[in-house]
Amino acid sequence: MPVYEFKCKKCGNRFELAESISQHDKHKEKCPECGSKSIQNVVSTVSVKTAKKS
Ligand SMILES: [Zn+2]
Repeated sequence: MPVYEFKCKKCGNRFELAESISQHDKHKEKCPECGSKSIQNVVSTVSVKTAKKS
């Protein structure tokens, strides 16, 4: 299961989440710190082409 790194746009918290591709596609991740869904996927090592972008 790939691990994604995220940064919360609201509180600036950085965190990692291990999730399946399908989960990632649904974009239901949220900040564990403040619960905001305004998070940014920080990808440094993995290059993934995302066709879908909501
Ligand atoms: Zn946050």
